[in-house]
Amino acid sequence: MMTLATSHRKLYSRESIGDSMTRSRKMSGKMTTKQLQQRLDTIETEFHGFGNAAATELMKHNQLIYGLLSDLGKLETIKCENCGEEISRPILKGIENTDECPSCGKSLFVVTLDDFGGEEE
Ligand SMILES: [Zn+2]
Repeated sequence: MMTLATSHRKLYSRESIGDSMTRSRKMSGKMTTKQLQQRLDTIETEFHGFGNAAATELMKHNQLIYGLLSDLGKLETIKCENCGEEISRPILKGIENTDECPSCGKSLFVVTLDDFGGEEE
């Protein structure tokens, strides 16, 4: 959760740079455009680096959790009836699984026709 807090801080500082940019233009600048650009570049690089690190971290966690669940036999694999994608989902108490396919957004079990035809209730 530490990393998430960092991300917010980075986002805010990015916004405040936007503010100072408008302000400095009015007050004939504390910071030159070049300096500002350099700062923005640094922040962008850091932000990008953070994004990558977070994505990698998330992926690691995901693999870990799913690996663990699979090992415990707490993972079911369902083949989507609509798009044929294989979906793994946890079988755990207290976790409600949706029957909606994350890949195509339709039901995993019932073949849905694209056009429903009418709005009958
Ligand atoms: Zn599907």
